[in-house]
Amino acid sequence: MKKQVCSQCGGEEWIKKLRVVDRGEDNARYDLALEMEMNPQAILFKERVNAPLHADVCAGCGLVLFQVSPVSLQMLKAGKQLTEERESADAKSGDFRNHPRYQEFLAEDAAYKFMEGSEVMLAFAQWLARKER
Ligand SMILES: [Zn+2]
Repeated sequence: MKKQVCSQCGGEEWIKKLRVVDRGEDNARYDLALEMEMNPQAILFKERVNAPLHADVCAGCGLVLFQVSPVSLQMLKAGKQLTEERESADAKSGDFRNHPRYQEFLAEDAAYKFMEGSEVMLAFAQWLARKER
């Protein structure tokens, strides 16, 4: 792994992987997260990708770097890819299930039908990436 050098002071010592916590009205603690809406027009199934933030703090100057986990990053990339493909395919209802190759994907393994929305989306994006390589 590349050494993480602070862009502000050049320091190399970090306090790593801190949770980024907010408090709600009831004083409950929440992790701050990035959220991507895959299907913003939908009333019920917006296909949200949720990516909790964590932070590293430079021990030299206190600069804060936010990051998402590798799994969250993969989900966000899948979401970006599907959003771009949906826009270029001009799908009817804006749902990734209307992608021209979605039925082909389902036909290969019926188990996908029983996954949750964001899991299917990720599986479909990975399937597409394999097919189009
Ligand atoms: Zn620093």
